[in-house]
Amino acid sequence: MSESDWVSGNIGIRVKGIPLEFDLTVPAAPVKPQRMLPIFQQMANSMVAAGVEVIEGEGKKISCKAHCGACCRQAVPISDVEVYHIADLVSRMPEPRQSEVRARFDAAARHFKSIGWYDRFSEHQAKAPDMEPDAARSEGVKLVLEYFHEGVPCPFLEDESCSIHPDRPVVCREYLVTTPSENCANPTPESIDGVELLIKPSKALKRLNRNKGIESHGMPILTRALELAEMYPENFESKSGPEWVKDLFSTLAGNEQGENIDAAASRS
Ligand code: SF4
Repeated sequence: MSESDWVSGNIGIRVKGIPLEFDLTVPAAPVKPQRMLPIFQQMANSMVAAGVEVIEGEGKKISCKAHCGACCRQAVPISDVEVYHIADLVSRMPEPRQSEVRARFDAAARHFKSIGWYDRFSEHQAKAPDMEPDAARSEGVKLVLEYFHEGVPCPFLEDESCSIHPDRPVVCREYLVTTPSENCANPTPESIDGVELLIKPSKALKRLNRNKGIESHGMPILTRALELAEMYPENFESKSGPEWVKDLFSTLAGNEQGENIDAAASRS
């Protein structure tokens, strides 16, 4: 791509009074959202860093560290865009690594299908909006704890560390705790003090673009990514980089986290 194929700009937002500046260079021509993912990941890193700054300002310390992968046995809800990104990432892995990773995905997906977990999770998501909020939350927590207690590691977890760290889903970037890391081996809502970020870009990313086929299963869980990408060919629309960025910020400001964003400005 030549220089004229890119647009550079700066976006400034204030999250609960904390200024965040993003210097972005994005494709000028229409592109699929996967092409924007590295840019969104960088933005997510900055948003998470701002949240950590707030936590540390309160005297708390993040206890997450390398080789502590207890949380990587959780159900990891990802965006549809990340489903295709992960499928592409795996398809580009050299052999024999690719076959090993595919086998781990296959084993994990087969296990959760055999206990009916994916179906029960989809059903829960479909009925949750009509349920009493506390009952919906409690049923959701029960389901995610059940997934965790099955003890099935993420297919990318190697030596208790993330083997795709720079490419890991945005939601994995947001998961941080301040309670002792030992507590993560047997998490309960009482034993885990998770970091409540002021804004969660993963939520906006999940709403940014949906594939109708994937959507019919509810929110995609990482262990199903390869299967879902194969079942439903990618059919995202293409938009210019500035349009994708605008959409992401509109989604962020328009959802329940929007009240934390004081102002947004875009200059190019
Ligand atoms: S992608 Fe990486 S960080 Fe996320 S659950 Fe898997 S191993 Fe853990």
